[in-house]
Amino acid sequence: MAKVVVLGGGESGVGAAVLAKTKGFETFLSDSGNLKEQYIKELQEAGIEFEQGGHTEEKILDADIVVKSPGIPEKAPLIKKLRGLDKKIISEIEFAYPYSKGKHICITGANGKTTTTLLVHHLLTSAGKKAELAGNVGFSLARQVAQDVQPDYYVIELSSFQLDGMYDFKADTAILTNITPDHLDRYEYKFENYIRSKYRILQNQTKADLFIGNADDPVCGEWRPQMKVTATEVVVSRDKAKCAISYETPEGHLIVEMPGKERLDVAQDEMTIHGKHNMYNAMQACVAVLNEGLSVAEIKKGLSTFKNAAHRLELVRTLNGVEWINDSKATNVDSAWYALDAQTKPIVWIAGGTDKGNDYSTLMPLVEKKVKALVCMGVDNSKLLAAYTGHIPTIVETRSIEDCVAQCNKLAEAGDVVLLSPCCASFDLFTSYINRGNLFRQEVEKL
Ligand code: ADP
Repeated sequence: MAKVVVLGGGESGVGAAVLAKTKGFETFLSDSGNLKEQYIKELQEAGIEFEQGGHTEEKILDADIVVKSPGIPEKAPLIKKLRGLDKKIISEIEFAYPYSKGKHICITGANGKTTTTLLVHHLLTSAGKKAELAGNVGFSLARQVAQDVQPDYYVIELSSFQLDGMYDFKADTAILTNITPDHLDRYEYKFENYIRSKYRILQNQTKADLFIGNADDPVCGEWRPQMKVTATEVVVSRDKAKCAISYETPEGHLIVEMPGKERLDVAQDEMTIHGKHNMYNAMQACVAVLNEGLSVAEIKKGLSTFKNAAHRLELVRTLNGVEWINDSKATNVDSAWYALDAQTKPIVWIAGGTDKGNDYSTLMPLVEKKVKALVCMGVDNSKLLAAYTGHIPTIVETRSIEDCVAQCNKLAEAGDVVLLSPCCASFDLFTSYINRGNLFRQEVEKL
């Protein structure tokens, strides 16, 4: 019996172990940290052997197939050893793929993945199609396959780390939202490696498959000529002149014109999501579902009922004429750019946290135009202070969510917006961006 070793016991790892066991593999899961209670229970119930708090090397090196969780970096000593032995190391999605039915609509990119994934899924399900979510968005593809969930569609959010462990997988529809530098610590600090990783979403595609790109993204534009695209390729753009299949009119209408399909024309106020960035997400999602035969009426209904995930430009409350917005998910400069850009009122901006090598200069034109006060929230705010002192009228430093919200409350006046869009990871003061966003919401609700 072939041996499958699963490294990492989170959502994807446990799902992979359950599938491996179901398919008759000798299965062992190993995690160097502690497993969550719910996963321990699931593994025990499925009769899967596992360990936590360390790796038993001889057992792992004996594997025929290693399913590696995306969080484990290539430079981990164990992975290096496995590579030295020429072991097959794949990701959970790759492992599940041969057993999974239905079409696979896959989304990757630096920003906008979750929103686009959820939107495609919502458009399909609100039109009565059977669709399931998988990948980074929080549900293991492997577990669903093991449970014999057989939808018409799997809508899968793929991180570059997942893509790195994918070889035979093929996306029926591939969406690449955009590429900006991120996670470079995992790519030998070479942007090119990260870009190539993102483009793996196109591997194995044929002419019968669809690739939806973004003609306005400068990095995608620069790299596209070097990438092999065998799928039918279409692009979205805010500018029709770029041969875009989907574009925006000067009045802000989203248009999709696909050969052989109904023409979609939807006004911004018919959609629940706003901002330039969401226009891109909506354009790519609409192209994907029009391609699947959804009608214009079905798409419009979906766009008007979509509720995005929390922590993404989420309006927490309006108090005394001040809007409080939680964009805790904006963990890099590019996403904060879109959040600032989307605001039409003077901004009290909360930024800071664990800096990932940020270059704050790209935000300067927007900051100078729109930000009236910066409330830094981080253990080390020196980079933000260096970048913006003299460019924003008021800057204050805080080191806790309570102090931060209190300072914002003092600074904001009716007609302003308080925007948490931190540009940074959250790990200096919080356990995750979700924890940061939830605490922000709680504090704001107390006011
Ligand atoms: P991801 O899953 O790629 O991290 P999300 O959809 O969760 O992306 O959005 C995270 C943040 O990124 C949002 O809060 C928003 O500020 C920004 N964002 C969303 N879509 C885009 C886009 N298409 N381009 C740039 N930034 C975006």
